[in-house]
Amino acid sequence: MAVKPKNVCDSELSEEQKHILLEKGTEAPFTGKYLHNKKKGEYTCAACGNVLFMSDTKFDSGTGWPSFSDVAKKGAVVLRTDNSHGMKRIEVVCAKCGGHLGHVFDDGPTPTGKRYCINSLALGFTEKQ
Ligand SMILES: [Zn+2]
Repeated sequence: MAVKPKNVCDSELSEEQKHILLEKGTEAPFTGKYLHNKKKGEYTCAACGNVLFMSDTKFDSGTGWPSFSDVAKKGAVVLRTDNSHGMKRIEVVCAKCGGHLGHVFDDGPTPTGKRYCINSLALGFTEKQ
């Protein structure tokens, strides 16, 4: 059973977005609307609007999902051990509402060495110049 994050029920999310955020789903690779987004701005949680990532840490990882080398600010996300699907991974959840965002891996570019692999459906985007 998926735990229902706070606030999520009040927001207007599509069924696909609820599947990701509430049921820890994963969108099909190379389908996300932010995969090739090169605009400057802030990536927010689709459920609660919490600012999660900045465009200047986004990079093309070739995996098919939006990838970031760092979070927008310390404490924006919470990391949890995820042993589902026979894999040992680190789950990334929104620190504010607990919605599932994606996973983080240790093969990212310097300086952080992190690759935050995030579902487009879990994100919103606010363009900033
Ligand atoms: Zn959130």
